[in-house]
Amino acid sequence: MSRVFNRFGISGAQFVRAGRCIVGGVNSPVRAFGSVDCGPVFIGRGKGSKIYDIDGNEYIDYVCSWGALILGHSYGPVIKAVQDSADRGTSFGAPTVAETELAEIICDAFASIDKVRLVSSGTEAVMTAIRLARGFTGRDYIVKMAGCYHGHSDSMLVRAGSGSAEFSKPLSPGVVKSLASRTLVVDYNDIDGLVRVFNKHGKKIAGCIIEPVAANMGVVLPKAGYLRKIRSLCSQNKSLLIFDEVITGFRLCYGGAQKIFKIRPDLTCLGKIIGGGLPCAALGGRGDIMDMLSPMGAVYQAGTLSGNPLATAAAVATLRVLKSKNFYDKLEAKSKLLADGLTDAARRNSIPLKINRIGSLLSCFFTKKTVKNFSDAKSADMKIFKAFFAQMLKQGIYIAPSPFEAMFISAAHTKNDVEKTIAKADNSLKALKD
Ligand SMILES: *Cc1c(COP(=O)(O)O)cnc(C)c1O
Repeated sequence: MSRVFNRFGISGAQFVRAGRCIVGGVNSPVRAFGSVDCGPVFIGRGKGSKIYDIDGNEYIDYVCSWGALILGHSYGPVIKAVQDSADRGTSFGAPTVAETELAEIICDAFASIDKVRLVSSGTEAVMTAIRLARGFTGRDYIVKMAGCYHGHSDSMLVRAGSGSAEFSKPLSPGVVKSLASRTLVVDYNDIDGLVRVFNKHGKKIAGCIIEPVAANMGVVLPKAGYLRKIRSLCSQNKSLLIFDEVITGFRLCYGGAQKIFKIRPDLTCLGKIIGGGLPCAALGGRGDIMDMLSPMGAVYQAGTLSGNPLATAAAVATLRVLKSKNFYDKLEAKSKLLADGLTDAARRNSIPLKINRIGSLLSCFFTKKTVKNFSDAKSADMKIFKAFFAQMLKQGIYIAPSPFEAMFISAAHTKNDVEKTIAKADNSLKALKD
């Protein structure tokens, strides 16, 4: 390996150049590697489970474009579908058959989805779901869980009020206080807290949005009965249940977390995997609710590049593969191997490590504590994470530069990749001890 990770080298120079004309040198903040005290590597290309930086280093990639690339990088049939589609024109802003094909695939995969609206990002899908829930119910309040990420629309950029303050505060300047106060924040996995909020505000709550498996505070699984309780609270109060399955959608199985946990949400947000690496996302759900969207209904929503041909081509080509026999079983086997190997490596090196995993979605918390919510996740040791991240990167293993992001295993990761990763993790953890 030619270059040790740092602010120097070709990537370092390009980061300086980018910083002169792009805010912070990046177009999405986590890419700046801000929480790991170093500059990012610039990626030149990717193939299968590997990415290659512009300094000539190869990495086994566990970010996979933040989970979008479940088939790995530059997957032949997806690339071919995009190329063929591009040959016929890149965007028309008019209906195409591929949009219907994609919509049919989604409706077929999710029992709760009668109809969809395609959009270009998860943020848009969520923003539309929130507006639709408010429009459909004629109510203002939305419940969200602390540590769940739903993109960056104003209603979702809030944090719980401090101390006894019941109403949320903007998480970012520019979010209007009165809007933030219409989002009620409850701890993930906290049934009592949720019951209290519904008892107090139930008749004003338009909807409750949740990542059925949280994957943006690290991976946190719902405790037994939690999702069912949310479903019944929403039904009792005539509030809509919105599952944000932007990550879990086609990640956990063909049909998402809702199929695994047997819960039928009213609305579902999809993104990441459904674009096959291109900008595509979707909002789907009950027909009577979805029909309130324009042009059928009065709730406005639109998008110039929504359902554009390149994205729908990539999406259809990707989802076709996911439907093949044993696709998720194979992912599960590799993911289990990785999680077990990392757990053993930590034990061998006497470093406290808790791994939360479901299918090919996992995360490493350097803590002795069981991680059930955002506070638990935040209590993990950041210093160990930073050092571990640096060691792994140096040894050619690319994990997310934040302890609050998941590791994603793709179909392109081989058993050999996983074994190599475990060996490098063992070295990395050993180095932390010295
Ligand atoms: C990534 C993500 C979003 C936002 O999607 P973008 O395409 O980045 O706008 C929303 N919800 C969840 C659960 C996500 O992981």
